[in-house]
Amino acid sequence: MNKKDYYELLGVDRNASIDEIKKAYKKLALKYHPDRNPGNKEAEERFKEITAAYEVLSDSEKRAGYDSYGHEGSGFDFSQGFSSAGDFSDIFNDFFGGGFGSSSRSKPKRNTMGVPGADLHYDLEIALEDAFKGIQAPIHYVTNVKCDTCQGTGSEGAIKPVQCHTCQGSGRIRTQQGFFTIERTCVTCYGEGEIIQNKCKKCGGNGRRRGEVNISVSIPRGIEEGAKVRVSGKGEVGARGGKSGDLYVYVKIAPHKIFTRNKADLHCKVPIRMTLAVLGGEIDVQSIDGAKIKVKVPEGTQTGTKLRCRERGMPYMNSHALGDLYVQVIVETLNPKNLTKKQIELLKVLEEEENANMQQQSEGFFSKVKKK
Ligand SMILES: [Zn+2]
Ligand SMILES: [Zn+2]
Repeated sequence: MNKKDYYELLGVDRNASIDEIKKAYKKLALKYHPDRNPGNKEAEERFKEITAAYEVLSDSEKRAGYDSYGHEGSGFDFSQGFSSAGDFSDIFNDFFGGGFGSSSRSKPKRNTMGVPGADLHYDLEIALEDAFKGIQAPIHYVTNVKCDTCQGTGSEGAIKPVQCHTCQGSGRIRTQQGFFTIERTCVTCYGEGEIIQNKCKKCGGNGRRRGEVNISVSIPRGIEEGAKVRVSGKGEVGARGGKSGDLYVYVKIAPHKIFTRNKADLHCKVPIRMTLAVLGGEIDVQSIDGAKIKVKVPEGTQTGTKLRCRERGMPYMNSHALGDLYVQVIVETLNPKNLTKKQIELLKVLEEEENANMQQQSEGFFSKVKKK
């Protein structure tokens, strides 16, 4: 490391008072603190340098050594001073009494959360009828579940883990280095604060194992294709008492043989006889709830016409309102092979009428043309 002059680093005079040094350091430290310059290597480097300078110049003995012999005389072993930016935050808070930055203040003193379990994704296909009424869907899957032998503690016989003797349960070790206190994660317990003496043989101390989960998930009425239902805490169980993940059930709705859906509206196609289309009448249609409903077909209905049945569709989510059912009529032509004698007679009459009608129309057409 390129050793810079400590006085120059802090921007103070060689005979600056301790108060001046302290003031200069505080000002620079606030400017270059890693919390204020995330990812900025240069600022981090600068912060290291000014901190080292302060460490020496604020200690009268070290300062005297430095004044006489330079860096070698300061007694400050810089290379072992700090290992990561995280340590700076701790030093800084110790020095200025906390309240600086945010990451270091919110950091828990001890990691008591273990390893959190993963969220799980489950695809569930349901029938349109189920989406109409809402269902309790039985679901089963394999994931990491709580070890029943140790009850998730990871310890044989579910005996409570003992407090770590190295860190006294805090999960952190503080070492004094001159003016500073350096805090690190405890290497004995890896920050857990406690140690399992006899690991559970079944789960190897994890507190969880592979297992099947059987639950019933409530799928609300009106649910739409692709919607997800969150089941809190039913994901993978965390290791060593960690928080469990959540289960997300993604709903897929199976194609229906009669209805297609557009949000809360339903659509279906119903074939009707030609005569019914011409003369008008009523048809029976089955709705999604299984009820038979009568639908009025107006006189002279053309093929493809959509007849609206109000509030015979799907429910809206979280509401008592219902969408509509649209019945599209498809007018069927007569099958010439299956006609009775009487039908043929009637068709002949119809044909004569049509013919006469057509002749009238074409005469009118030709007369119009001639006049031009
Ligand atoms: Zn176990
Ligand atoms: Zn420990």
